[in-house]
Amino acid sequence: MTVNDIKRFLDCRVSDVGAARLPEPFMGLGYVISLCIKLSDSVVDTITDKPSHTYFHHYRSVNRALDDAAQSLGLYLQKYGYDYFPVAASQSVNTDGNPFKGVYSHKQAAVYCKLGFVGLNNLFIHNEFGPKVRLVTVFTDCPVTDNQARVMERSDYRVCGECGKCIAACPAQAITPEGFDAKACSEYMKREFQLIGRGSVCGICMKVCDGKNI
Ligand code: SF4
Ligand code: SF4
Repeated sequence: MTVNDIKRFLDCRVSDVGAARLPEPFMGLGYVISLCIKLSDSVVDTITDKPSHTYFHHYRSVNRALDDAAQSLGLYLQKYGYDYFPVAASQSVNTDGNPFKGVYSHKQAAVYCKLGFVGLNNLFIHNEFGPKVRLVTVFTDCPVTDNQARVMERSDYRVCGECGKCIAACPAQAITPEGFDAKACSEYMKREFQLIGRGSVCGICMKVCDGKNI
């Protein structure tokens, strides 16, 4: 089985697929597959200085579509005798004392698969689609690729150059050239956007980032 087989299988259900051989197995599985769905530009345009109800619904719909695609891919792999481990598209599990941490970082997986990089706004920025994407991850023992994972380095952040749009736009001052403050971001959303998605989405730093520095 190859990455192209997976692309054909998922057809229009996802926007891009990547795969890599992991530096270290996860759950005993040595390969990672990253699935990406590009968000609707028109829906992202409804974000102003706050998220919109439409954006929140789209965010949840795309996460559900990603979970469904990951599960279908898992069954496809299983049918050919391989094991699979899907990671939920949007789920915090509060491990290591970090309330924002998931079972595995989708961004890390997508970087491993060479689909893009992580910007100063802490968003995954897809090589072609920019930051307006959502991700899901499937681990497997199926040798889908010869590609060794790409490990992101600090120097990768140079692609953001002098842009700084997300730094200027973030109302929580959660983004700086030195790093991203997940707590400040989360607390701001919970406080200011409680009536839109119960404070779980914002999207301002995604909307302003055009990823042109890629
Ligand atoms: S999601 Fe909103 S609050 Fe969080 S970093 Fe981006 S702009 Fe700032
Ligand atoms: S808005 Fe500019 S600085 Fe921020 S992540 Fe996007 S490209 Fe990088």
